[in-house]
Amino acid sequence: MAKLPKLIDPFDRSIDYLRVSVTDRCDFRCVYCMSENMTFLPKKQLLSLEELDRICSIFIKQGITKLRITGGEPLVRRGIIDFFKSISRHLDSGDLKELTLTTNGSQLEKFAPRLAECGVKRINVSLDTLDPNKFSQITRWGRLSQVLKGIEAAQKSGIRIKINTVALKNTNEDELLSLTNWCASNDMDLTFIEVMPMGDIGNEKRLDQYWSLEELQQRLSQKYKIVNLDEKTGGPARYIKLIDLNLKVGLITPLSHNFCESCNRVRLSCTGQLHQCLGQEDEADLRNVLRQNPIEDEPVIKAIKNAIALKPKGHDFDYSRKSIFGGISRHMSHTGG
Ligand code: SAM
Ligand code: SF4
Repeated sequence: MAKLPKLIDPFDRSIDYLRVSVTDRCDFRCVYCMSENMTFLPKKQLLSLEELDRICSIFIKQGITKLRITGGEPLVRRGIIDFFKSISRHLDSGDLKELTLTTNGSQLEKFAPRLAECGVKRINVSLDTLDPNKFSQITRWGRLSQVLKGIEAAQKSGIRIKINTVALKNTNEDELLSLTNWCASNDMDLTFIEVMPMGDIGNEKRLDQYWSLEELQQRLSQKYKIVNLDEKTGGPARYIKLIDLNLKVGLITPLSHNFCESCNRVRLSCTGQLHQCLGQEDEADLRNVLRQNPIEDEPVIKAIKNAIALKPKGHDFDYSRKSIFGGISRHMSHTGG
């Protein structure tokens, strides 16, 4: 494929990582992500799988080398495996270096072997607790055993798993050591995430959910010898190693540390809005330009370039004044976490 000039933002950051939300729907209703009675978008507002394929391919032409498929729950979108199969042609050509996804794991048992066939080598599975009752409380609709079977199936298919755990005050604080031990003994990486102020979540209160990862790390250090790793992925995570367990742990700390200066990514929502920053309301509508130009790619290429030229420096999330500042009205499931 003929390559176009790379995408560089106004702060000289090279954008080579695209996250794509393929649906806002989900088979879970996690308390920090959605309210129980979510209203989902009319299906015609979503990009079709063909449109998603086209726009991802244009991004790849413009230098995106890592593509993460997310949602909502990406594996509940009908036809999603055909989409992965089609996109995997860019892995075969070498234009794409990594095709991956973030999932709640509920459908992994069914899909893991086919994802592996499509060239998926690593998957992030979101899991906040190993206690079945707590799991039902957090996800409202999920079953832990189903997710554990999914993880096992993925590992059997040769896919490496990273567990993503949202640190939740009074909810999974007491599982810190069991989660780290479980990941270490099952050869999985682990990343903790601070809860972010995104979307209306009904009666759940953000500040009650927020557990700072600084405090989490302090607790880990009471039990394990910790070294800071120098690893930089251009992403929000910084990494530490728990020497005793030989476990690498990622810490995503949008609230207690700002992570924006090395940001290399943008996000495409399921409706074709390009979000240059997860923590800002700015967006560029790519769906319209895509639909108005069903054959000609040039206007879409230009629209992407223009959108990257508006990427802001960073987010403004802040809980430090004991109230929520910089919150975002859209849900993570719409933009893609
Ligand atoms: N359904 C898939 C899943 O749960 O992995 C993919 C989409 S989900 C929106 C992506 C990630 O965002 C998950 O790891 C989830 O825990 C995280 N997430 C959702 N809402 C969040 C919030 N308000 N703050 C921090 N993380 C959040
Ligand atoms: Fe669904 Fe993922 Fe949001 Fe949970 S975090 S409700 S699994 S989209």
